[in-house]
Amino acid sequence: MKELQYDAVVIGGGAAGMAAALEFDAAGFSCAIIEREDHLGGILMQCIHNGFGLHEFSEELTGPEFAERFIDGVTKSKIAVYLDATVTDFNVAGSALSGGQAAAYHELFCVSPNGVLRIKSRAVVLAMGCRERNRGNVRIPGSRPAGVFTAGLAQRLVNIEGYIPGREIVIIGSGDIGLIMARRMSWVGCTVKAVVEIMPYPAGLTRNIVQCLRDFDIPLYLSSQTTSIFGNDRVEGVEVTPMENGVLALEKRFRIDCDTVLLSVGLAPENELSKAAGVEINSATNGPLVDSRLMTNVDGVFACGNVLHVHDLVDWVAEESRRAGRCAVEWLRGERPALQFRAKAGSNVRYVNPTRIDPRRDNQIYLRSMVVKNDAVLELRLNNRVIRSIKHNHVQPSEMINLSVGPKELEKLNPGMESVLEFSIV
Ligand SMILES: Cc1cc2nc3c(=O)[nH]c(=O)nc-3n(C[C@H](O)[C@H](O)[C@H](O)COP(=O)(O)OP(=O)(O)OC[C@H]3O[C@@H](n4cnc5c(N)ncnc54)[C@H](O)[C@@H]3O)c2cc1C
Repeated sequence: MKELQYDAVVIGGGAAGMAAALEFDAAGFSCAIIEREDHLGGILMQCIHNGFGLHEFSEELTGPEFAERFIDGVTKSKIAVYLDATVTDFNVAGSALSGGQAAAYHELFCVSPNGVLRIKSRAVVLAMGCRERNRGNVRIPGSRPAGVFTAGLAQRLVNIEGYIPGREIVIIGSGDIGLIMARRMSWVGCTVKAVVEIMPYPAGLTRNIVQCLRDFDIPLYLSSQTTSIFGNDRVEGVEVTPMENGVLALEKRFRIDCDTVLLSVGLAPENELSKAAGVEINSATNGPLVDSRLMTNVDGVFACGNVLHVHDLVDWVAEESRRAGRCAVEWLRGERPALQFRAKAGSNVRYVNPTRIDPRRDNQIYLRSMVVKNDAVLELRLNNRVIRSIKHNHVQPSEMINLSVGPKELEKLNPGMESVLEFSIV
């Protein structure tokens, strides 16, 4: 077994991992990225459509172009990159401190082309991304024929491997990957017969509904459940049943013939490793619970990107991950916040990240609405007193809301350890 040691190890070499790792390098700390694929870039490498980087670079890039900007930075840095290397085990250290510096070492085990690596590190950044929910997760009844794929797998087959998985497609779920794939499958000559969504509103971004469905005349059935998949060896069709007042209107069910079903029914942060290491998970996001520094309940273990919560735009992943890297650098230097108090989701808000606020710094907050609402107001209440109201023309669950809460507005209110900042949509 090869023994290695770094100040920081980043698990995952997608946008999140690279953005965090570059901060360690810039601060002069030794750092390694461990990536299980044979290349850096993560999910971006199969997203060959444009729409990336509008906030980060003020340009419209494809996924690989966005990734390339970070890969170039990593290549020019002193960051050690281990590819084809999977972290399989993670033992967290105690939180012993010596002279204001973090002294305890975490221990990661990694299977690589050079055998098993045992890597000691003072700080660890979790950046393992997320994975797609599948048919088992959403329990679609019917037979078990070939021809059922998750949308991301179909995207990889078409864009990377060069295979077309079928000809007549029905997409279940209206998440962004499914919408992007509706357009992609149309471009490669397939017929996309429908997108079927159980909720009364789409799960994906509005821009993707317009550019990927409306522009291609692909029908979107909202409030509709896929109640069966038909076919023996290969998919032959699906049964769709409209929902009325939350109940299946069985008399209105209909069949759509197809040979392929793509599932776009949600993403789940990839946290098996985190859980095994004792990292506490937020039941609202399925990602780690983090404080104002994006540090988990385990000292020196930080999380960012899709492993923390599923993001809509990679630009926010990059922002958050740089912040996680910077906070981890401060932690390595022995800096600790004097005070952090609680942030929580109030009415109509599904979650708030992070769940702790440091009144002395700019806290970048990401949250998701639970409702679709026009003329909405995001209300911030500190200890039940409204401290800010922000108007939003429109809010919906698929679009993340972000805002900054800083010392200017917090310090004069003199919050204490027991204070609570609540975010509500009214
Ligand atoms: C189909 C699709 C379309 C999208 N469209 C857009 C768009 O138009 N515009 C936009 O801004 N954003 C878009 N996004 C979102 C954006 O691409 C992602 O939010 C972002 O790239 C996620 O970055 P990440 O680093 O958190 O995760 P990932 O890119 O998933 O990276 C995680 C990495 O961790 C590695 N890993 C996991 N576990 C281990 C382990 N145990 N050991 C070693 N390595 C491990 C994985 O191999 C992976 O490379 C889209 C996403 C998808 C899937």
